[in-house]
Amino acid sequence: MSKKQNPFAMAQSQLDSAAEILGLDPATHAFLRKPMRELHVTIPVKMDDGSVHVFEGFRVQYNDALGPTKGGIRWHPEETVDTVRALGAWMTWKCAIVDIPYGGAKGGIICNPKELSMGEQERLARGYIRSIGEFIGPEKDIPAPDVYTTPQIMAWMMDEFSKLRGYNTPGVITGKPVRVGGSLGRHDATARGGMYILREAAKVKGIDLSKATVAVQGFGNAGQYAHGLITELFGSKVVAISDSRGGIYNADGLDFEACVDFKKKNGTVVGFPGAKGISNEELLKLDVDVLVPAAMEEVLTAENAGDVKAKLILELANGPTTPEADAILHKNGNMVLPDFLANAGGVTVSYFEWVQNINGYYWTIDVVYQRLDEKMTQAFHDFYETYKAYKVDPRTAAYLVSVKRVVEAMKLRGWV
Ligand code: GLU
Repeated sequence: MSKKQNPFAMAQSQLDSAAEILGLDPATHAFLRKPMRELHVTIPVKMDDGSVHVFEGFRVQYNDALGPTKGGIRWHPEETVDTVRALGAWMTWKCAIVDIPYGGAKGGIICNPKELSMGEQERLARGYIRSIGEFIGPEKDIPAPDVYTTPQIMAWMMDEFSKLRGYNTPGVITGKPVRVGGSLGRHDATARGGMYILREAAKVKGIDLSKATVAVQGFGNAGQYAHGLITELFGSKVVAISDSRGGIYNADGLDFEACVDFKKKNGTVVGFPGAKGISNEELLKLDVDVLVPAAMEEVLTAENAGDVKAKLILELANGPTTPEADAILHKNGNMVLPDFLANAGGVTVSYFEWVQNINGYYWTIDVVYQRLDEKMTQAFHDFYETYKAYKVDPRTAAYLVSVKRVVEAMKLRGWV
């Protein structure tokens, strides 16, 4: 496999294509190519063995023309500031395409949560919030979960921020457990929002999802719920799933509950009874109707994009496809439903959570589902109209919609 590209260079090159088509003036384009603000912090944490470990963290506020910035916090051993910058840019385009009043941001801490005890995780979460406390807030910048961060971590972070302020401030962070101000429906919102996008895409492409076969790469929050929901909502057959250790395949379909149970007991889906072992790379090339990359960045590349057979690619991960792979997939007629559209369900329900926190009035699950469906369906059709009108690849079409909205706000504010 080729060396990974810098994700921020990837995000900038995607923006460049849209900027050229829109004929953005050089200053506006230059402004959008870089984050407006970023904070680098060091966080000393007392470890269980009595030593002190100094962790490194970031918070990047990419653009706040549309409103306070919004975006998750990743805990990952290979985190880099450029990954966080790329993800902050993608959050900007994500909030714009679903038309919620937020800019984009992202946070990250270089750490391996699998090696940290619960106590160490709590001290790290609280330390991070003390370091960035001045920089965030319900009116300013609102974090959320992302790779390896959980509702429990959000609860500690909200509590630490509330202590700094001196009063309960649930609206500072989303993705909290329901008991401390979380929204119903936030847990599977990323996957559910993706289902609404898939439903609309299948309609315009004339694909019958009840007869479709599906492969899902990644069994984290997004991938796992996608497996369950795609079967529950459409009756599609999930024939392959995977996690970081490898994948499994069964042409007759993989039972969702049984896979979740197996993963809980064994820490991986590999070895699931009655299924054939396959690699993550093989999974991407399977002859299925729908492919769902729901793991990490840069899995579809110039090397393997030509071998992809799925007609629809629902990107629930952030940044799974490189610009070179986008061009190949577009040429071959494999339609990519781009990440910041396909996985915007998470931030959309985060927005609902923040609205509920500010109002102190909580919605039923039916209201959450119905409003999520409205937002995602509208976003798909805004995207699809542009896609047809400009005859560009789907990701560029999604950029055109979002960049136009952000630029309009920048102009109205008198920035450019
Ligand atoms: N981390 C999620 C994303 O990449 C959710 C962000 C949020 O809820 O603010 O979209």
